[in-house]
Amino acid sequence: ALLWSVFAKDGQALPTFDALEKGIEPLIPAELRRTSAYLTHPVFNSHHSETGMLRYIRALSDKDLALDRSMIPLGSCTMKLNATSEMIPITWPEFANVHPFAPAEQLQGYQLLDEQLRAWLCQATGYAGISLQPNAGSQGEYAGLLAIKAFHASRGEAHRNICLIPSSAHGTNPASAQMAGLQVVVTQCDENGNVDMADLQAQCEKHSANLACVMITYPSTHGVFETTVKELCALVHSHGGRVYVDGANMNALVGVAAPGEFGGDVSHLNLHKTFCIPHGGGGPGVGPVCVVADLVPFLPGHRTGAEPAGVCGTPEEQDTFRVGAVSAAPLGNAAVLPISWMYIRMMGADGLKHATEAAILAANYISKRLAPHYPTLYASANGHVAHECILDLRGLKETSGVMAEDVAKRLMDYGFHAPTLSFPVANTLMVEPTESETLEELDRFIAAMIAIREEVRRVEKGEWPQDDNPLKNAPHTADSLMKADWPHPYARDVGAASASTRAHAKYWPPVGRIDNVYGDRNLFCSCVPVGEPD
Ligand SMILES: *Cc1c(COP(=O)(O)O)cnc(C)c1O
Repeated sequence: ALLWSVFAKDGQALPTFDALEKGIEPLIPAELRRTSAYLTHPVFNSHHSETGMLRYIRALSDKDLALDRSMIPLGSCTMKLNATSEMIPITWPEFANVHPFAPAEQLQGYQLLDEQLRAWLCQATGYAGISLQPNAGSQGEYAGLLAIKAFHASRGEAHRNICLIPSSAHGTNPASAQMAGLQVVVTQCDENGNVDMADLQAQCEKHSANLACVMITYPSTHGVFETTVKELCALVHSHGGRVYVDGANMNALVGVAAPGEFGGDVSHLNLHKTFCIPHGGGGPGVGPVCVVADLVPFLPGHRTGAEPAGVCGTPEEQDTFRVGAVSAAPLGNAAVLPISWMYIRMMGADGLKHATEAAILAANYISKRLAPHYPTLYASANGHVAHECILDLRGLKETSGVMAEDVAKRLMDYGFHAPTLSFPVANTLMVEPTESETLEELDRFIAAMIAIREEVRRVEKGEWPQDDNPLKNAPHTADSLMKADWPHPYARDVGAASASTRAHAKYWPPVGRIDNVYGDRNLFCSCVPVGEPD
């Protein structure tokens, strides 16, 4: 009765069983009750038995080309293994069912987790303070740039509003700078993809009085350790600017080098890249922002008073909320933090270093083994890449008409998820194997890439026309291969790549080639047409 009185209208009596049978008057006011139909698509009302539902889900997963079939060699976004042991704790109600604004005394576990995780991440990055509040890498950038702005303003230099960004930067860098109210000036890269130091110096001199910061990515978005990074930081500092090091590529650094030690002032991490939180499908992200000592007071704060400390500093430092909150909840996406905690705790310092070394080794292994077939576009002077490599396919257009997209689609016939296509350079493939794939799987991927290159050679020799070959027609559905009519100049089993795929484990692409550009420009809805009778 007490519970009822909390939710009931004034004077509304606790219904008797009889009344319940007849149906009680809903508490939702009539004008707010929904009258329109909803979830009318057949998918929501066609599967009525457990096995029916099971078969529907199985049919969907059969269409998918995911980690349960092959490595996902996507570059630039570190699709790292999300180990089951790391994921289990987020299912525990003690972590999963805590409200973000629960009173502090109910959040003691989260406070400890937050404290330990921040201390470990400070150690890994070489910074003095860190906030776990930002919900994405880009939000970490935003918070970091706000810290830089607030720092300049606190010294009477609020006019410093120029943010230098090399042309190789990830798109979120200029976007965040714009949002933070900074003015972006793009600096050049040389033909090796490195920051053009002469141009950077010229821009620093030109904007010296108003220089707020430079934003670089290390290792670069081109997958290379730039050897001039220390000079770059010193140069920017000499003009009164701060250095933002985009830490999304920390998979190549953890345990080996720390941005806070080679000259960076601010970085964000992507826990959903480097620290194992799954990020397929756009979330959930955690983009901690890390800073050197004099920027600690400008880390994001929160007005709840109940929040765990946002910084590793003294209580006075923690008390200065000059930048304010960058996300609604004081601890951001706290519910997924146990994943990164588990990863670091289980790996230990030695394990993390080993992972970095293995990730770099795997990328260099792929780059070297594929070099006779697909040259790597950018490398340091010693010929090495960092944690990923950009395979240059641009020459194939001239000799065979084959584009990087054709190779990406052909990989599906071979049972592989495609690498990153045409980013950051058009008509290239960017591969990041990470440390989590075995040598056997790397070799299987390399063998598929080489077999595809052999197919390109047959086109180059004129054995197959440029517009009708296994690459241009990829991916091949089972239907298309089994039709009575087979008009192509290559055999069906060549189309299926059956000689190169594992027996009993052939992946059948559910649809043939899609015209991406047409699809992007002509949106259509896959819902049941509006006019269709129910
Ligand atoms: C992924 C990435 C970002 C942005 O991170 P989000 O979580 O997607 O906002 C920024 N910079 C680089 C280099 C990245 O790879």
